[in-house]
Amino acid sequence: MKSDKARASDKYHVYTGIIHIHSTFSDGTRPIPEIAQIANELGDVHFLLITDHNTLRGKKEGFEGWYGKVLVGVGTEINDKDDRNHYLAFNIDKEFGPEYSAEEYVNQVDAMGGLGFIAHPDESRSYIRQYPPYPWTLWNSDRFHGIEIWNQMSEWMEGLTHFNKFWRILHPRRSIISPKPQTLERWDQLNLQRKVVGIGGVDAHGFLHRLIGGFAIRVFRYKVSFRTIRTHILSEAAITPDTDYQEALQEVYAALRAGRCFISHAYLGSAVDFSFWAQNQHGSATLGETLPFEQNTEFSIHLPKKAKAFLIYNGRKIDEQIGTDIRFAAQGKGIYRLEVTVDDRPWIYSNHIRLQ
Ligand SMILES: [Zn+2]
Ligand SMILES: [Zn+2]
Repeated sequence: MKSDKARASDKYHVYTGIIHIHSTFSDGTRPIPEIAQIANELGDVHFLLITDHNTLRGKKEGFEGWYGKVLVGVGTEINDKDDRNHYLAFNIDKEFGPEYSAEEYVNQVDAMGGLGFIAHPDESRSYIRQYPPYPWTLWNSDRFHGIEIWNQMSEWMEGLTHFNKFWRILHPRRSIISPKPQTLERWDQLNLQRKVVGIGGVDAHGFLHRLIGGFAIRVFRYKVSFRTIRTHILSEAAITPDTDYQEALQEVYAALRAGRCFISHAYLGSAVDFSFWAQNQHGSATLGETLPFEQNTEFSIHLPKKAKAFLIYNGRKIDEQIGTDIRFAAQGKGIYRLEVTVDDRPWIYSNHIRLQ
């Protein structure tokens, strides 16, 4: 059957990753092997990308590699001297301290063949004085490769008020609702100019929060964070624990660079079986890919369970349907992405398919 042939799993291998994790090499609360063990126990996570602040110690000291069925890669989260412009950089060997400007590290990571994503781009929280917001300011650069469209810790902290904090502490996963609308809008606008990949990050620290009197409470243990925002890649090659870990990491980075990825909130169910394709007489294209436009271009969507899919064309919602196997007609040249909700809760965000 044609629709079945179009599934991502027929051409690509889908792997689930957790991106943006802090270990004891910066302000996280567990060492990398323990973090990897936690992911291993979950059983449905294939890779972790560690990003400690301004250091690559995890990589330099040999902590990259396979831990059971989980692949661990080490990048870094760089910031400038004002602690702004947090940048997740992967596939580099150079460490950047806060003496570098955002423009310098964005350009250098790109020049070195690295991969860089803007972290929590529109952060604006104000409730807890000791955790100020760290928004991005260098928007005129065209040398970053992507942005974190959904950051679990950032959203959780941002929504915190005096009145809801107890509920949010008791229900950390239910408190995670959606990316910020202004970030999604910005992401679409950027993609009208050039490909800017969207990823999801957890920003896991396993932090202790001292919010209730003198009690310290670990709101997002690593295990809890790892069951929220996930980034799934479509890999050209099969990646197994038999694969050389450096080759495996290059596959992960290649998929992320290409935008062959989508984001899900695992609290609402497994998204692994999601696919989104465009097809016409020229062929087919999936996430991050481009297809020449012609009038009869059709999108095929497969959802892992019955849910509502919204087609976003050049930043505007133009169509919606409920089901598991859905088709939409393309309306013209431009960029198309998909948002999927379950019971009105955002569940899946795809990267863009381009029709040119
Ligand atoms: Zn940060
Ligand atoms: Zn972080």
